[in-house]
Amino acid sequence: MRLVVFDGGRLGALDGDDVVELRTARLPDHRGPLHAVIASRSPAPGPAAHAPRRRLAEVRLEAPLPQPSKILGAPVNYLSHRNEMGGHHTVAALGVFLKAPSSVLAPGGTIRLPYTDQRTDHEAELAVVIGRTARNLSPDRALEHVFGYTCALDITVRSGEERSTRKSFDTFTPLGAAVTTADEVSDPGRLRIRSWVNGALRQDASTQDMIYGVPELLAYASSVMTLWPGDVILTGTPAGVGPLTHGDTVTVDIEQVGRLEVTVSTAGAIPYATRPGERNPRLAPPGSRDPTI
Ligand code: MN
Repeated sequence: MRLVVFDGGRLGALDGDDVVELRTARLPDHRGPLHAVIASRSPAPGPAAHAPRRRLAEVRLEAPLPQPSKILGAPVNYLSHRNEMGGHHTVAALGVFLKAPSSVLAPGGTIRLPYTDQRTDHEAELAVVIGRTARNLSPDRALEHVFGYTCALDITVRSGEERSTRKSFDTFTPLGAAVTTADEVSDPGRLRIRSWVNGALRQDASTQDMIYGVPELLAYASSVMTLWPGDVILTGTPAGVGPLTHGDTVTVDIEQVGRLEVTVSTAGAIPYATRPGERNPRLAPPGSRDPTI
């Protein structure tokens, strides 16, 4: 099933160009109706009583997981992107990083670039949605803990701060549009992944080129921390990342998984040098003598 959340927290399944609303308890869950289904460990629900069917183009899609318990990322996980960035390290050398759950953006949403003068890149990535609590997974059992897959963008400012800062601005983790359940994905290690900016192809690769495949990545991540139902794990990006500018439209397409499209805006962006904290009165300005010495 391809599961979407739409029109104020309704859960639906895609059927061609239609959305069929699914029966849910509609219990208040700040993590959304899909998270409630995943956490309950019950099969995806059937159609609602009157199975309202809507045209996909006529509904307002929301983030399938608006508030994941955590979002993990793999820093450099494709050989091609590693060469592009000039590094020679592996996931195990760099570890995984955390992105703020508040960075999630709904499909069709707008990425807000924070700075007028710092390069900010798109990174198209296959995202794994965890289905069952997992700790110290072995690679050969890891996929049993996957609920499904979705398209993601790991938006990244190319400045000098820690990864978790540069990648955690609000709107920096577009997810969706649908979460495709794991039974519909034959092999997460053999999927074509592409991205476009304004219709121009920027990334075109296979998940086969990952340094750590999904099973190894889950084994590594779960050796560090417990994975919870609804956690989202970004699996890294292939070569072809590039800067975003105001007015861009970014599209991600992953074979068997789906498609995600968002736009980009510089509304509210500020010069990097004027960001809060840059001028700290407790620190001496450059060239002055430190009075404490
Ligand atoms: Mn990334």
